[in-house]
Amino acid sequence: MNRIDLPWINQIKHNRQPDGHKKSFGHVLIIAGSPGKVGAALLCARAALHAGCGMVTAMIPEEGVGPLLSNSPEIMYRTEADLSTINLEPYDAIAFGPGLGFSIQVRRNLEFLLQNYAGPIVFDADALTLLGSYESLISQVKPHHILTPHPGEFARLGSLEFDALNREKQALEFVSTYSCQLLLKGAPTIVVTSSGELFTNSTGNDGMATAGSGDVLTGIIAALCAQEYAPDVAVRLGAYIHGFSGDLAIQKKSKASLVASDLIDHLSEIRLLD
Ligand code: AMP
Ligand code: MG
Repeated sequence: MNRIDLPWINQIKHNRQPDGHKKSFGHVLIIAGSPGKVGAALLCARAALHAGCGMVTAMIPEEGVGPLLSNSPEIMYRTEADLSTINLEPYDAIAFGPGLGFSIQVRRNLEFLLQNYAGPIVFDADALTLLGSYESLISQVKPHHILTPHPGEFARLGSLEFDALNREKQALEFVSTYSCQLLLKGAPTIVVTSSGELFTNSTGNDGMATAGSGDVLTGIIAALCAQEYAPDVAVRLGAYIHGFSGDLAIQKKSKASLVASDLIDHLSEIRLLD
């Protein structure tokens, strides 16, 4: 099985352009959060910001605006509920799902995105459950779509009973039916690219089994897509960087005390893509 490790990163990475400006590093749109779950949106948007993209806009509920600005004044926001009223053209990559819930408007937005946005999209969390609930939605996923389920979300996404001993086979079968980039979370996380190749990540630890950890991963992958890594590469690079950040974090903190924000903080020590 192929490993996602440092030698591979060194082969595929491109370094930042010394004459680059914020637009050259891409603009990410994070669509996340709902009343009671705005933290998911903040973690996702802050992770994208700290993973190297030039600009981040978060589409969040009104109650998230104050916390967002006091935590990260660098992040732009918008509070429209209906995605079809927005011009998506300025955004180089989109993350859709963390903490969004399952309202009819969320489902409409998901449908709108599948039909009207040709760039890379990371679908996570509630978006995965919605995708798995409607054949009319899941049948629209394409290779520029990255799906990042944990085992429970994978079971709902693929309408299957998750089998930990056969998860590689289940992941390969899913991608042969629905051609996308699939990241199946676990210890270790595995990735199946739309070409049907299976990869195993080499970073990460059980301290990362904590609320919001996956929202950080979603933001990192979207930021890499905006920096012009192809979706099949961005998903693997994102898994590596996310786990690496967790491995750096536990050099200073106990696994038990690690929280998702620590993963964002430790991104600053990773100079792989500078
Ligand atoms: P989520 O369940 O969506 O919050 O995602 C949890 C994140 O933490 C995923 O990226 C997992 O791969 C990672 N994670 C959780 N538990 C472990 C573990 N025991 N070992 C390595 N990574 C883990
Ligand atoms: Mg999650």
